[in-house]
Amino acid sequence: MTSVMKFRASTSSALTARIALFLLCMSAVFKVLPVLGGTEVKFGGSHHYPPFHYYAQDGQPSGFDVAVFQQVADAAGWATRYKLGDWSEIQNELKEGLVDIVPMFVSDGRKEKYFFSNPINVEYHLLFGPLGLSSHNDLTSLAGRRIAAEIGAFATAELQRLDQDIEIISAKSERDALLMVTHGEADYALLPSQIGRRILTGEELEGIAILSPPVLPATYAFAINPKRPELVAQVNSAIEQMQRSGQLYSLSNQWLLPNGAETSIGSSQFGKWFVLALAVLCGLMFAGFWYYRVQFGRIQGALLSRDSLVRDATRKIKNLYNTDTLTGLPNRKRFIRHVAVSLAQSVGQNGNVAVGIVTLHNLDTIQDILDDSAGDRLVREFSALVETRTDLHPAYLGQGLFGFLFTSISDRNDAFRKMQNLITTLSQDLSVRGILVHTQLSGGMAIYPVDAESASDLFQRAKLAVNNARKSGAQLLFFTSSMQPDPQKLQLISDLKMSIAAGELSWALQPQYSVSARKVIGAEMLIRWKHPEYGWVPPCDFIVWAEQNGFIQDITEAAVANASKLMSQFKSLNRDCRISVNLSANDLASDAMVDRIIASTREYWSSLTLEITETALMRDVQHVAKNVERLKQAGVHISLDDYGTGYSSLEYLQAFHFDEIKIDRMFVKDIARVERNRKLAQVSIDLGHQLGAIVVAEGVEDNESANMLIDMGCDVLQGYFIGKPVIVDDLEDYLPVVDAIRL
Ligand code: C2E
Ligand code: CA
Ligand code: CA
Repeated sequence: MTSVMKFRASTSSALTARIALFLLCMSAVFKVLPVLGGTEVKFGGSHHYPPFHYYAQDGQPSGFDVAVFQQVADAAGWATRYKLGDWSEIQNELKEGLVDIVPMFVSDGRKEKYFFSNPINVEYHLLFGPLGLSSHNDLTSLAGRRIAAEIGAFATAELQRLDQDIEIISAKSERDALLMVTHGEADYALLPSQIGRRILTGEELEGIAILSPPVLPATYAFAINPKRPELVAQVNSAIEQMQRSGQLYSLSNQWLLPNGAETSIGSSQFGKWFVLALAVLCGLMFAGFWYYRVQFGRIQGALLSRDSLVRDATRKIKNLYNTDTLTGLPNRKRFIRHVAVSLAQSVGQNGNVAVGIVTLHNLDTIQDILDDSAGDRLVREFSALVETRTDLHPAYLGQGLFGFLFTSISDRNDAFRKMQNLITTLSQDLSVRGILVHTQLSGGMAIYPVDAESASDLFQRAKLAVNNARKSGAQLLFFTSSMQPDPQKLQLISDLKMSIAAGELSWALQPQYSVSARKVIGAEMLIRWKHPEYGWVPPCDFIVWAEQNGFIQDITEAAVANASKLMSQFKSLNRDCRISVNLSANDLASDAMVDRIIASTREYWSSLTLEITETALMRDVQHVAKNVERLKQAGVHISLDDYGTGYSSLEYLQAFHFDEIKIDRMFVKDIARVERNRKLAQVSIDLGHQLGAIVVAEGVEDNESANMLIDMGCDVLQGYFIGKPVIVDDLEDYLPVVDAIRL
């Protein structure tokens, strides 16, 4: 503005006309030069870094850096190309010489990799954090804090350089860093002030405040392709020229002052071409033109900003209603609306519409092992994969469920193929806090109009299908009418409670065969419940009900009492028989339950084995470890059940000193046919032995598998081939049967 005023005061209209014509000619020459074989220079930058550089709504690169670069390019006569993308990638491309000029903060580390122009701006950083958290005058008082900063950013490098006990949480973008603070995954985010403030105001991130004075002042300049040193002098001379003419100052006012960019986006281009058009048409009123341009710019700016305020507010309200805040994807409501529109459009068309839902079923495990915010992180990482499938209108439905809409489906097979392809492409390893997590996915699908006739029914049925797939471990299931919620389930749960209270549960014994002793040396106790009306109910169903409805400990207590009764019977018959009891995930976290187990099995501690799964250990590890240790001190054996299905983490294996490891029946089942299972079994056996544990294979169904496991060094075999679980009324009938078992 200042430079414009000066310019107006010192020109006459004749002179103006000549300058305008000159500018026009020069501009034409510069535009032609590159075509005639002039230099091409490629500008690179992060894909969304407003107000510095970003793609504007018209798809053109825009922002302060772009405006300065354009001026430099015009002055140097370059042809220009732009690539805005992933920040780490762009930095690599600059190092490789695939892009030539990338604006960034100057640091010693970066100076070793690239050339740098003279500074074009000075910027500082701010700490953003939740309201109420302590503020910091500098970065040296942040020890013990978790600070989010963008990967490869100046702020990240400077935090590392501080060499303090700061946990740096890598974010994919500045926005991501701020979101991590809102989700409690980081205490603070360290961001360039301009960027951080804009995200904060633009997205209305509630509860976030600026918690430091300006820190980390840094110069901002063009980093230059190390393979093109000749560009440095050209850039510097253009920058000097822009500084002398006041142009750099006015560009920084235009783009970097608060609210500068919103009103100036597009208007600078418009202004430039407006000048040229006027010069060609009349070549007269140059000074007048500037006057009108300034006035016009003001009015246009005011209108634009009022309009954009209204537009922004409407957009934000709509977004709040329709977008999931964790992932930024459409939410359930918007998804169902999409489905409804699609159903309406499909009437009279040939194709069908299908709703597919994918579930991330290791989300719970991640939350158990780490915490809820790590679970959120997993969901966000996964949603980054999902959002690339815009063709399928992806949405986040909460609780690890993602919705997809398939249109133009020819039949069930077609739907199945498409959904399976989707699941395959989404099954990728994702990194959560440095841990590589393999996503375990299940999918469910329902098709219109066969399965349901309305959008919400279609959605509900796809959800039933995915829940069934998750429970049964299937990768993909279509809705079937048998999946409809059973109104009798509530009744069944209440019946189960009554059966437990009435002592109506029973237990089957499944023999365990020792390879070295060549005889049955123990048995696993497996619960059985016969409903008076519906008959036997599978334990994997009702154990979950008891867990979900808070009465699993009643079952555990009954099981422990039954084990004590059995062991006393074995003792009275003068027989040694180990009894294995299954514990549930919550049992070991309860001190009172562990006290009761220790007290009620006192006489039989050394014959008792408690089977626990890895997930049981992962809740409150230290607490569980303390209770496991108490049981071990008493002489109770601890067995790791279902080995191979969880995380099979070496850390847990070493920390807990298991007496026994049970290879899950999933790997034992096809051992004779599937080489991978064979290898897994062998590795598990060797590992178990190295840790000093006995290795049990469960689910041994045939002679061939049994021999194979014996050859591999497995210590104990359990499965239908050895003996099916049987409810034992009288031990005197059971013992001769198991005594006869010989391999
Ligand atoms: P689990 O601990 O993995 O128990 C082994 C399951 O494999 C049993 O199923 C058993 O009948 C079955 N099985 C044994 N040999 C074979 C075989 O050769 N082939 C095949 N295909 N299956 C075999 P079951 O009895 O239905 O028990 C299912 C699950 O219920 C158990 O899995 C365990 O997690 C849970 N459970 C059973 N009893 C109790 C209990 O008293 N308390 C708790 N908390 N959970 C229990
Ligand atoms: Ca078991
Ligand atoms: Ca098992």
